[in-house]
Amino acid sequence: MPTETFEFQVEARQLLQLMIHSVYSNKDVFLRELVSNASDALDKLRLEKLWDDSLDADVSDPHIEIDIDKDARTLTVRDNGIGMSYDEVGQLIGTIANSGTAKFLRELREAKDAAGEEGLIGQFGVGFYSGFMVADEVTLLTRRAGESQGTRWSSRGEGTYTLERVDDAPQGTSVTLHLKPADPENQLHDYTSPWKIREIIKRYSDFITWPVRMVPERPATADESDEAPEPETLNSMKALWARPRDEVSDDEYHELYKHIAHDWRDPLETIRLQAEGTFEYQALLFLPEHAPHDLFTRDFRRGVQLYVKRVFIMDDCEALLPPYLRFVKGVVDAADLSLNVSREILQQDRHIEMMRRRLTKKVLSTVKEMMAKDKERYATFWREFGTVLKEGLVTDSENRDAILAVASFASTHHDTEPTTLKSYVERMKDGQEDIYYLTGESRQSIENSPHMEAFRDRGIEVLLLTDPVDEVWADAVGEYEGKKLRSVAKGQIDLDAKDEDTADDEREKQTEEYAGLLGWMKEQLDEDIKEVRLSSRLTVSPACVVSDAHDLTPALENMYRAMGQ
Ligand code: ADP
Ligand code: MG
Repeated sequence: MPTETFEFQVEARQLLQLMIHSVYSNKDVFLRELVSNASDALDKLRLEKLWDDSLDADVSDPHIEIDIDKDARTLTVRDNGIGMSYDEVGQLIGTIANSGTAKFLRELREAKDAAGEEGLIGQFGVGFYSGFMVADEVTLLTRRAGESQGTRWSSRGEGTYTLERVDDAPQGTSVTLHLKPADPENQLHDYTSPWKIREIIKRYSDFITWPVRMVPERPATADESDEAPEPETLNSMKALWARPRDEVSDDEYHELYKHIAHDWRDPLETIRLQAEGTFEYQALLFLPEHAPHDLFTRDFRRGVQLYVKRVFIMDDCEALLPPYLRFVKGVVDAADLSLNVSREILQQDRHIEMMRRRLTKKVLSTVKEMMAKDKERYATFWREFGTVLKEGLVTDSENRDAILAVASFASTHHDTEPTTLKSYVERMKDGQEDIYYLTGESRQSIENSPHMEAFRDRGIEVLLLTDPVDEVWADAVGEYEGKKLRSVAKGQIDLDAKDEDTADDEREKQTEEYAGLLGWMKEQLDEDIKEVRLSSRLTVSPACVVSDAHDLTPALENMYRAMGQ
């Protein structure tokens, strides 16, 4: 059958170059990536067969197999999972259908040091390509379950790959790495050594729920009639979330996180929860250290993995956490759900609802603990995920106080360190009754706003809010511990409350005096404004535009307009 040659997409080519010339010191992880893909493929096959019993697929012994050929210097990772069709191979392996890739490559060029590069690589699911760190040619043979014809993909990573249809491919996928020449200096990286393979699987893939087997090499002396040696299972397949805390090392938890989150970095925080009683479940959740680049895009895949009694049910189960915790990764294993649950059922299930509430509270209380015990880690967390968490102030009134308690905001009190509302209140001046904030596009633009003048003069602290969501939550929340949240850009603000009467008299007199000027200004600007009045909020600027207390601010107006309202 004809072999067709294709060019990699520009982005894919760039990523491949990165892998081929990788500075990544820990090349062992390529095997983790291939095993992780194989495991995903077995999960997918199980589910597909569950939904469609007529699927003509072999599900009798799902497993992953690793074959070493020392003489040919090849390493093969094989699974009998879902496989890929001819078109899928082209789409999934030949291109990078990821809109964030351009951004990634740009960031990569900016990350001049190797450490930055390593970190970035992890964010972009370049899993399969990591084979090119250790191989100078990769071949993939696959047949999709239910289809009769298979596909062979092959590439040296240098710009092109070939595709060919094959008739006799077994169901599933096998990836064969033609390993780079051995480095006599560095025996540690000999991937044809069974010992090495055993060690890598144990370290990175022990929890994989399907058996990872290795077939020992036949001794050279064996002849054809000798029985083939028994394959050895390399992983324990134990569900980490079901094991007692003190039996599991942090490293083991971290490897599970990497598998689930497709991240190469350790998580920032590991959260365990064992719920007992009438509805039993176990959860193992992770807070990543970095926000993924597509966290604010519509097709961001959120949610945790759902298991029922150790059996994988689905990825990205959204129903278990609210959208504002969409960055949380992990596993939830419920004892009493049906294996046939669908996403639609989950949305309405009473138990799921209970679990969501409990898990939400657990995540928030973990953040609170982090805040008390490890300021630096909390600061990282808030920098990466604060913007998302604040959405919860609008959408989750039940946990509003818990979110406010762990929130922090830029403020005029300090140039770089954000403040909590609690510390703001502690610093409030005698006689100050409200919490003041101002929203804007950047800290600088807010600080330059004429609205800030009187506050600066009087030494009154103002929160500087720059996320679009800030306007929405500040309005929706209204107050914190009995103190009103007030925008310094809205309504009348009287900063000298104590001598209110004299101030009022004074202003009335002045208003009469300037009636002519104010009237003229109003006439000139009639189209655009409601009213012109004298102000006590300015000290340097001659004038500023103020919204009514209940008007939408300009940024909000834009947001609603963008939403088509
Ligand atoms: P990711 O696993 O993060 O999606 P990869 O680069 O590791 O990224 O894999 C790309 C895609 O190729 C996978 O999402 C999957 O659809 C497909 N794929 C890779 N390996 C296999 C396999 N062994 N069986 C079936 N599909 C696979
Ligand atoms: Mg992968």
